[in-house]
Parts: sequence; structure tokens; C-alpha cells
Amino acid sequence: MLKRYIYQILLITCCLCLVSCDSEPGIGRQRNTERSQAKEREFFAMDTYMTFTAYGQEADTALQAAEEEIHKLEGEWSVTDENSEIYKINHSQGAPVTLSQDTAKILDFALEMARQTDGALDPTIYPIMTAWGFTTDQNRIPSSEEIESLLENVGYEQAVLNGNQIQLPAGMELDLGAVGKGYAGDLAAEILKDRGITSALLDIGGNIQAVGSRPDGSDWRLGIRNPFGEGQVGVLFVSDRAVVTSGNYERYFAGDDGQIYGHIIDPSTGYPADTGLASVTIIAEEGKVGDALPTAMFVKGPQEAEEYWRAHQDFDMLMITEDGEIRLTEGIQDSFTLSGSFANMEVQVIRSQ
Ligand code: AMP
Ligand code: MG
Repeated sequence: MLKRYIYQILLITCCLCLVSCDSEPGIGRQRNTERSQAKEREFFAMDTYMTFTAYGQEADTALQAAEEEIHKLEGEWSVTDENSEIYKINHSQGAPVTLSQDTAKILDFALEMARQTDGALDPTIYPIMTAWGFTTDQNRIPSSEEIESLLENVGYEQAVLNGNQIQLPAGMELDLGAVGKGYAGDLAAEILKDRGITSALLDIGGNIQAVGSRPDGSDWRLGIRNPFGEGQVGVLFVSDRAVVTSGNYERYFAGDDGQIYGHIIDPSTGYPADTGLASVTIIAEEGKVGDALPTAMFVKGPQEAEEYWRAHQDFDMLMITEDGEIRLTEGIQDSFTLSGSFANMEVQVIRSQ
């Protein structure tokens, strides 16, 4: 026990060094990439590494403002920070809690997406995440009785949001893990645009928010990660879009029973979603949609995800199935190219009819 504690302190110290030893005064790291005239800031927030790149005269100050916004939102949405609004909601014991505008908006959006996806996305899944040890990195397989009883405290329908006030039954907990970073990306992009930036790329721990196009007017080239190992299965060309991928490969553990358990949970069972998908990438106008949908589509699985896309069609989607097939919606068929070493992968186009 003591050994593990010392190890954790050492690990945290090393991580802090990696972040802060590189820092200049202010928050994060600032660097001029002379070759491309890009301004870049790298920092750690919301439990992930972020790299913001922007072009233009005001890029430095705009990036700093965008980073400050992210830290502000992190302070409001953290599940562990006792001063955060989410922490207050989760410890409210059933009493109403008054929210800031940002938090009310993201919760309103998360609950709306939960309704639209029939609960495939459920921001009240946190007690189940904790039971599987994903919130502490001390993973375990909960018993079916434990899951059964915890599921009584899961259910977005029970959260009552009225304007900027929310009421959650005692025992229920909220977690913005599946949507917060996307919404934060929208707000950061807005700050950049307000300051005249027309070309920027925000990498929010793998969630990409592209502001405009590249400085020369061409599309950004975004690699789609190989969910089975190293490398990228292909490249997607986009401008002014959020591109977000979810997959259990991002966070998982192998149980004593030899099975792999991933961090995206099917709220209807309390078990990691296992629908034959390795990853889902969503291409959307807004980061919050881009973040909410891949998580939800991963839970739904390839067939239901296709049906959801046909019913909405205001986003594009690229799914990689566990048996190594790519299924992408017709809107991006000309914007996606397979990488050389994946050139033999089968690609199927999902059409509106
Ligand atoms: P993402 O990486 O955006 O797919 O979000 C995954 C994270 O969202 C997990 O680490 C959990 O914190 C949380 N989560 C897992 N399953 C769900 C779900 N079905 N609905 C909402 N949030 C979830
Ligand atoms: Mg998500």
C-alpha cells in the first residue's frame, strides 16, 4: 500500500515536470514555428494534453485567451475539484443547484443528446464508471448484483434542469467526460474567431476542432488512428469542422478472466459496449456534437448508428468495425484516403437511401 502511494507521488511529480519544466511564464507553452508562421500552445487540462495552433497576427494573444477559457471550464466541470459545479451537483443530496451559463448550456445539450440517442449517451453514467475503476485507474470487474443496484442511480430522465437550476436525486452523479471537451473546443474556437483568427487547429486530446482552413486555403489533413495498433488507417481532408473519434482502445483493461473491458459503457446494461465496433469518428460543424455522437454511436453499434445517421444526416461518420472494415457516410467518401499500409481495407459507403 505504502509502496503504491510513493509510486503515485513519484509519477505525479514526473508528470508535473513534463508539463511545467517546459513552460514559459503564463499558462502552457508558447512556441513560434518559424517555418510555417504558426503559433502554438501546449498544455494539460481536462485530464488530457491539448495543442492549439493558430495563424495570423493576433494568434499569440488569441491562443492565450482560448487556453484560459479551457482552464475556466475545467474549474466548472471537474468531477473531482470540490469547487466545481459538477462536484456540487454530485454532492447536493437532492437539493437544487444554481449553475453558470456555460454549465447550464452543456448540461442542457448533454440531456438533449441523451434523449435523442435513446440513452446511448447518458451523462449520469458516473457511478458505473467508478465501479469499473475507470475513474481511479484501479480497474476491477464489478459483480452483476453491484451493477444491477448501481443502475438504479443511472438515468438521464431523472435529472431536472430548469433554466440555470438543476436537481438530481440523491445518489445520482453527473460526468461530462463524453461531451465536455467538444463543447470546450467550440468555446475556444469562438474566442479565436472573435479575435479575427481564420485559420487554427485545436487538438483537444485527440478531438480536433478545425477553425477555417489551412492558411493557404487548402483543407486540413487529419489522420484517422488505427484502433488495432500503431499508425493511421487513413487521412481525412476537412475545413471548419470538428473531427472526434471514440473507441474502447483509448482506455481499457484486461480482466482476470482474460477479457478486455473498455471505458465506453452501455447505459442499458452497465457493461462496456461491445457492438462489433473498434472506433467511430464523427465529422460535425460543432465540437459538442462531434464529441457526443461518437460515444453514443459506439454504444449503438454499426447498424443502429447507420439508422441514426439516416434519420439526422447533419453530420458525417466513419466507423471501423472489429473485423477491419471501414464504413463511411457518402458526404466524406471523396475526402478520405486510406494510408498505404491499409490500402487493402474494405471501405463501404453508407448512402442516404
Ligand atoms: P469519449 O472519449 O468522448 O467517447 O467519452 C468517454 C467517456 O465518457 C468515458 O471515459 C466516461 O467518462 C464517459 N462515458 C462512458 N460511457 C458513456 C456513455 N454511454 N454516456 C456518456 N458518457 C459515457
Ligand atoms: Mg465523446
